Amino acid sequence: MIQWQALEEKLAELPLYIYSSIDPAALEFSRRVRQVCETECPMYGKTWACPPAVGSVEECEKKCRSFQKCLLIGTVTECEDIGNMDSALATRGGHERITNQVRDILRELGVKPYILSTEACAVCERCAYPDGLPCRLPGKMHPCIESHGINLIPTLETLGLGFQYGEHVVTWYSLLFYNE
Ligand code: SF4
Repeated sequence: MIQWQALEEKLAELPLYIYSSIDPAALEFSRRVRQVCETECPMYGKTWACPPAVGSVEECEKKCRSFQKCLLIGTVTECEDIGNMDSALATRGGHERITNQVRDILRELGVKPYILSTEACAVCERCAYPDGLPCRLPGKMHPCIESHGINLIPTLETLGLGFQYGEHVVTWYSLLFYNE
């Protein structure tokens, strides 16, 4: 079993805005979130980290709920203008690096997390998915939270958190599911 105190000591060394243990059963899964992927996201069907490759919302829900624990982490970064997509997305790499650091901490503590993070996977220059080939680096690939149909807003509200903190602040979240 992971010692929460040992985990907290490691997390406290990282530039996290928030970390919290949440119950996977309390997450809200919604077909409406998936519809946004299908109708509004240019990455739909382009990577292994996006729908439909990640499976149906029901399959994603079953997988996430199969874990006993979930660690939510969040970062905030200043940017020129959150309305400028390039400026906002430029902050994403930093959050992904921190997510990978938390992944490594959990691995050191003896668990193998299943990770949902931000946007589509950008590990390879060109994803293998459109070519019908398997993911080259499944250990490094993190589907985004929304790809699984998760509406994170109710969870954030319960924790007193938000998604937006003004026009110069970008907020990113990741979920790390694990079994003890
Ligand atoms: S690691 Fe590479 S092949 Fe796998 S999902 Fe990411 S971009 Fe695609």
